Amino acid sequence: MSTMRNSFVYLLIIVAALAIFFTMVSGWGGTEERSFTEVLTLAKEDRIQRIEVQSEKLTVITRSGEKFKSRVGKETDIMALLSAEGVDTSASGLSVKFKGSGGLGSFFGILLNFLPRIFFGALILFMMRQAQGSNNQTMSFGRSRARMFMVNRPTVTFSDVAGVEEAKTELQEVVEFLKFPERFLSLGARIPKGVLLVGQPGTGKTLLARAVAGEAGVPFFSISGSEFVEMFVGVGAARVRDLFDQAKRNAPCIVFVDEIDAVGRHRGAGLGGGHDEREQTLNQILVEMDGFDTNTNIIIVAATNRPDILDPALLRPGRFDRRVVLDLPDLNGRVAILKVHSSGKPLGADVSLDTLAKQTPGFSGADLANLVNESALLAARFNKKLIGMIEFEEAIDRVIAGPERRGRVISDREKEMTAYHEAGHALVAWKLPHADPVHKISIVARGGMGGYTRLLPQEDRYLWTKNQFEDMLATSMGGRIAEERIFDEITTGASNDLENATRIALRMIKQYGMSKSLGPRTFGRREELVFLGREIHEERDYSDKVAEDIDQEVQVVIHHAYTRAEKIIEENSEKLAEVARYLMQHESVEGDAVTRLFEGGPPQDEPVPVDPQPTPPAPAPPTVVPQPSPTMSSRQDPSPADVGDGG
Ligand code: ADP
Ligand code: MG
Ligand code: ZN
Repeated sequence: MSTMRNSFVYLLIIVAALAIFFTMVSGWGGTEERSFTEVLTLAKEDRIQRIEVQSEKLTVITRSGEKFKSRVGKETDIMALLSAEGVDTSASGLSVKFKGSGGLGSFFGILLNFLPRIFFGALILFMMRQAQGSNNQTMSFGRSRARMFMVNRPTVTFSDVAGVEEAKTELQEVVEFLKFPERFLSLGARIPKGVLLVGQPGTGKTLLARAVAGEAGVPFFSISGSEFVEMFVGVGAARVRDLFDQAKRNAPCIVFVDEIDAVGRHRGAGLGGGHDEREQTLNQILVEMDGFDTNTNIIIVAATNRPDILDPALLRPGRFDRRVVLDLPDLNGRVAILKVHSSGKPLGADVSLDTLAKQTPGFSGADLANLVNESALLAARFNKKLIGMIEFEEAIDRVIAGPERRGRVISDREKEMTAYHEAGHALVAWKLPHADPVHKISIVARGGMGGYTRLLPQEDRYLWTKNQFEDMLATSMGGRIAEERIFDEITTGASNDLENATRIALRMIKQYGMSKSLGPRTFGRREELVFLGREIHEERDYSDKVAEDIDQEVQVVIHHAYTRAEKIIEENSEKLAEVARYLMQHESVEGDAVTRLFEGGPPQDEPVPVDPQPTPPAPAPPTVVPQPSPTMSSRQDPSPADVGDGG
């Protein structure tokens, strides 16, 4: 079908070339030449129908249909000569036509004459092609590409993907179908054509898609939606077609479309108008999917982290109507993923994957893979035979905050201030019942932070209480209060804390209805401007008066947190100094040492246990807070609650 159309277009081009050639030839060649005097004579006798002038060359056509060439001197005014001979061109009906220059010039003249026609012809062809859903690849620039998409036979299996048991169960059916299609077909079961894997980056979508192919032992074709965005018009669609052609020849197989949101956004939502490459590509994918019959043993797996912006056409029955969601792993999931990635690596006897998993809420599968790899690199750097817990602990910090910057020179005073600042955070967190236990305090600069206090959530959280928010706010005030109290000075170190606190307070009031005075409602409709990517835009659905009230309520909430933190720091000023001194000396403290640090010395009131008892499995996630959880971390996604400080 496509080859036929191709040869048709080639035929058209050949015909056009021939036409040009013959026009040139017939215009100038093959006929005899006569003198110009003869032409004049014939003209006087009114025997000439037409004279075509191409600078010095003439083509003369007589009334009897004869045709011959002639020549005049350069710059000759033929019209003047004719009228001097008494020939009235308008009366006699003799037409004199002036064309471009002759010789090579005439070739260009003809070309100039034809170019617009060729151009318009091409344009019309092109438009026809577009109208046909760009099924034609004749003009595609992708013809000569050596390799358009990846094809392989993955060796990964479901055992390499951990912590996503539900997803694996759902995909097991797909595997079965690819392996034993007859079994399903004989029962007349409708097989899913498309499976949409939904999950944040690094949750293992690509890995899982490959594992499905690996389990079934079928080829795996993959392309990425983002590749299409920059392509020439028409190429994307052609590429999709090629991909499916190949896939059909290799069925049963898996076609994986990564980042499908890049092509599969709501049509017409793009800034550059609706009719663009994305749309073409998307249409082509839909056309291909609709063209499958029950015997086409191809399963299309697509991945996205933005299912909300997908074109509804993609989600219709018979297309990507299966949805498999990959959540960030819970505690058990993290243990399982750590196991997968550390298997075959020499681990020290002190390494506890459970403890590591507890310390890494919010880590994706990719983060955890990265964590294990970083630890191995660190161990190698220190020429160790085994990867120890120290390396893992350091790797966690690296994954969260980037490598330590020990090289940064800080004055003793600055160091002392940072020590008090972090001690302040830690002390307040330690004392408050709803704040997470303190896991690590460090005044070693890392990434963009001057120092940090890492809290260890006792469980993965999908719900936050007002008490937790309030204690979190107080904790973030602790740093600044400690600095102020000791040095009677305010530094810039706390700006991060204040920003976080303000954000949390605003959320409590506007999103979660946690304000007494403003009541249980939300303020501001949050909307995403799809075509600008992730930008969040808030539509105000409240009055100026309410806006003022919200401002005021933020003040109240933050002030309340401040007072609570201040009280704790005043009542425990000795402990504060003790912790700060320890930090000055050791730079960081973590785990049990934190407990000893806070519990040692003069008897304290009952502290929160730092090392939680084995955590019960985290609750199932139907109640996920739709927005990123308000941790105090420097990362966007939920992660161990750090109280990091901008450096
Ligand atoms: P995504 O496609 O969702 O962005 P990937 O599949 O590319 O994520 O994951 C990147 C890497 O992270 C994988 O190659 C794997 O090493 C690791 N990884 C992610 N999720 C898991 C998981 N559930 N189990 C094991 N490893 C995982
Ligand atoms: Mg991926
Ligand atoms: Zn701070």
